Amino acid sequence: MQCPKCSSENTRTNGKTKKGTVRYFCKDCRKSWSDRPIGRPPKGLVAMTNAERQRLYRQKRKNYE
Ligand SMILES: [Zn+2]
Repeated sequence: MQCPKCSSENTRTNGKTKKGTVRYFCKDCRKSWSDRPIGRPPKGLVAMTNAERQRLYRQKRKNYE
């Protein structure tokens, strides 16, 4: 597993989170991170619907007019 921060391969697994995803630890920069379950975006990053995006876009334009 490559470190997402410093791209080092000097990493090791560091147990598991409560959700059951594997945690990793970088021995070079001491960053720790966990694997995301595939197909599930993290909370807060849930994709906006197109309608919502368009609404926001129109709102922004309104402010400029
Ligand atoms: Zn690192």
